[in-house]
Amino acid sequence: MHSLWNDEAASRCADALELRAYTSRLLGNDPDLVMYGGGNTSLKARWRRADGSSVECLYVKGSGSDLAHVTPADFTPLELEGTRRLLEQEHLDTDGMMAGLAPFKLRADAPKPSIETLLHASVPARHVEHTHADSVLAVINTSSGRQLARTVFGDIAPLVPFRHSGFELAKLCMATFERERTERTIGLILENHGVVAFGDDARTSYENMLALAARAEAFLQSRNAWHLPTAPTPPKTRASAIALARLRRDLSAVAGWPMVLANDRAPEVMGFIARADLPDLAGQGPPTPQHAVFTKRVPLFGRDAGSYALEYRAYLEAHAPADQDPAGLPDSAARIVLDPELGLAAASVDARHAQMTARMYRHDIRIASRAASHDRYVSLPPADILLAELHYGGFERGLRAPARDTRPRLGQIALVLPDSAHAIDDLLAEGSAVVAIGVDTTDRENLVALAADATLDDETLVEAVHAFGGIDEVLTRRPEPSRSPLLQELLSLSPLRR
Ligand SMILES: [Zn+2]
Repeated sequence: MHSLWNDEAASRCADALELRAYTSRLLGNDPDLVMYGGGNTSLKARWRRADGSSVECLYVKGSGSDLAHVTPADFTPLELEGTRRLLEQEHLDTDGMMAGLAPFKLRADAPKPSIETLLHASVPARHVEHTHADSVLAVINTSSGRQLARTVFGDIAPLVPFRHSGFELAKLCMATFERERTERTIGLILENHGVVAFGDDARTSYENMLALAARAEAFLQSRNAWHLPTAPTPPKTRASAIALARLRRDLSAVAGWPMVLANDRAPEVMGFIARADLPDLAGQGPPTPQHAVFTKRVPLFGRDAGSYALEYRAYLEAHAPADQDPAGLPDSAARIVLDPELGLAAASVDARHAQMTARMYRHDIRIASRAASHDRYVSLPPADILLAELHYGGFERGLRAPARDTRPRLGQIALVLPDSAHAIDDLLAEGSAVVAIGVDTTDRENLVALAADATLDDETLVEAVHAFGGIDEVLTRRPEPSRSPLLQELLSLSPLRR
């Protein structure tokens, strides 16, 4: 873990807020620290009013932006004094907290402030960074995690017991900081969640985050817990193509809409799936609650999407809050599937989100494996994970709702031949994932280009199915394309044929 700070890039930043955005992007571009909306940062600085007066301000990353691409406009300026005063209250739920913050917003068109806003207000440092750093989670998400946190980080980053994101967590961060900080303190460890680092200038604060992650990594190395087991990548076969298409059909039937799969058979994934303790380890839950929004609490082991759905519904019934609106409950389809022959399959609304989900689970695999190498990996109780799923969830619904008009092919997979009347760009714009066979184009987010000829032999079809999990249509001008038994079988497994 080395610093990406670059003096020249930093000197190009016109002011403190630009510099804040710059180091936020450095954090956000390191997937070992931050995955997809999983972190936030802030800056305390003067805010100049139009009349020339100024006030102390907290710029906190707003919701809806990703640290990897954050710009000054993505930070919400809040009057610091009033924001901090909210921490004097005894209790505040999330709605109350958001309503309490509203009057202190200094720019009317700024984004909604992060749910972690008060956490950033709770410590006095000018810069504050919050991530879900893999290495820290691999140390603390263990049966002896509390004790290990004290051994590894001590007063350098005191441990804050688990609370859900929002008011309660910010209160406890403030109390822990005030009680336990010393001259050496550069951050806080958030139990079952992540890490906070801070500093009075941009570079120190960013590098303090790296220092905490490096300290965790050094501990894991010292316990021989860094190395990850591997196993051979299974071949892509006719049987695995059919199994993948069937899996996609079954998951889509449970979800009620067509899903796209991302398939990962890397040796690291296969090594995880081959573990004797897999159900116990992967059945614990995610290393930080936010990941459950993409991955759900636990994966499906094998291919029985129906049994998973029953268990998921039982989990919702047992743990959903009494006042939960049933319309806001997630569907019961698995998002992560672990199978000894298929590897990891991640399901989502489109190829991009399926790939994001798969990448996130790769990090979960590393964290759980490393934790299990030096201790027993533990996650939060199911009820706490479900609260996070409900609180941050619904992003898929958000993507699907407008799609009915603007992206009618969302979730569909088209196999495009060179003579197709459909332009690939149009198909992609309509939401489809595309496998282009023998077309002069290159891979893009929802596009895989195969350099095969257009005869659709079995080898080409097998390769095509492994791109996104199935085939819904073959686009060609030929009136009745020759349909091999394999192609017929694959098309019969399309979730659109119900
Ligand atoms: Zn967090």
